[in-house]
Amino acid sequence: MKKQPSLSERFNISDSDINRFWSKVNKDGPTPVHVPHLGSCWIFSGGKTRDGYGAFYLNGRNHPAHRVAFVMQKGRIDEGVIVMHDCDNPECVRHLSAGTQADNLADMRAKGRQRYCGPKKPMTGDLHWSKNPKNKDALRSLNEKVRQARINHPELFIRGEKCHFAKLSEADVLSIRSRALAGEKRALMAVEYGVSVTVIGNVITRRSWKHID
Ligand SMILES: [Zn+2]
Repeated sequence: MKKQPSLSERFNISDSDINRFWSKVNKDGPTPVHVPHLGSCWIFSGGKTRDGYGAFYLNGRNHPAHRVAFVMQKGRIDEGVIVMHDCDNPECVRHLSAGTQADNLADMRAKGRQRYCGPKKPMTGDLHWSKNPKNKDALRSLNEKVRQARINHPELFIRGEKCHFAKLSEADVLSIRSRALAGEKRALMAVEYGVSVTVIGNVITRRSWKHID
């Protein structure tokens, strides 16, 4: 992991920075399913870092928004401290706690958390690869990295309904497969479950949800 600059002395947050920060925060975010007692996530809706964290421009550079929020709450981040998300939602600036890299890895293992359960890049508008071939190359190399990571570090990847992006449950998957065997149309099931025909097709052909039989 790349070393984060110590924020304690770099941070000089003016009142207008604080107002600017909170104007980008939506306090009606989702409630994390595995820790509902924490209440709703506060989602940073400004820019994003490449890792999916919120990015807040301050003192001439972008900082991960959750680290900025942590400094606003606690005054500083000590050297070597990682600000962790108790809710596992990288966009959240509410459910934060301090830990070490060892804590972070242990937490990831315990929760079977992964960082790449869903699409990393929006594939719409100008970002769509058909509008700019460079985006296609970038996405292809990103997907290749994710594929390699899945092979080399399967413990970091969660699957199925634990994934934040999953719309289907394991029961849905079993039902879709048996209904497909019975000859039911993919398009009808897609409408019923609120997903695309491709998603239904991937479930049936086991390109997705491979771990469910
Ligand atoms: Zn949260």
